[in-house]
Amino acid sequence: MKLIFLGPPGAGKGTLAKIVSEEYNIPQISTGDLFRSAVKEGTELGIKAKRIMEKGELVPDSLTVELVKERLARPDAATGYILDGFPRTIPQADSLAEFERLDSVINFTLDDGIVIQRLSGRRICRSCGAIYHIINLPASREGICDRCQGELYTRDDDQIESIKNRLEVYKKQTEPLIKYYREKGKLKNIDASTDPEKMMAEIKAIIDR
Ligand code: ADP
Ligand code: ZN
Repeated sequence: MKLIFLGPPGAGKGTLAKIVSEEYNIPQISTGDLFRSAVKEGTELGIKAKRIMEKGELVPDSLTVELVKERLARPDAATGYILDGFPRTIPQADSLAEFERLDSVINFTLDDGIVIQRLSGRRICRSCGAIYHIINLPASREGICDRCQGELYTRDDDQIESIKNRLEVYKKQTEPLIKYYREKGKLKNIDASTDPEKMMAEIKAIIDR
């Protein structure tokens, strides 16, 4: 099962990708996570990506496509995967179509107001990557991960100015992909304003159909 998760930042793509990945035993491939670990490791790619990401801009298509191509060539991605955060531009989607055949594109639909509310309250565990929200999904002890006691932090690009910029970038560069995949007959919409269980049920219905 080869899936793309499409939608604005904060729609829950990462959260749901993790659940689907475990349930269907296919890897979650998040370009955001791949870039963040490149930044952490200080690789050549990481150095290039760092400032771009902090501002909420997109990493150039050529670098991004190269990264994804390498990742998809690994054996665990041979029969299926979830692409979370890729493609984000029409040229990225065109490149992907040259070497992969997708099953479905799951489009997470969500209003701007909710996007801002969600992202500005998002906290992430430094050690295990678990995602919390100060209002919707608080940790039992403020600032500390329930699972591993790691420290919770706010991503640089979850600061309000970056959030607004990411939304603008999404509308300009990524939203056109909705029409692109609809015309290819691959698009499936899900309501991203509900809770993860309801969203999972919708996704399951799409996958198992
Ligand atoms: P979001 O919460 O906005 O979905 P991600 O974790 O997916 O964030 O991505 C974080 C940042 O990584 C993006 O703002 C962008 O700078 C970079 N990035 C991730 N995926 C892509 C992509 N497909 N093309 C270009 N840049 C990307
Ligand atoms: Zn943790």
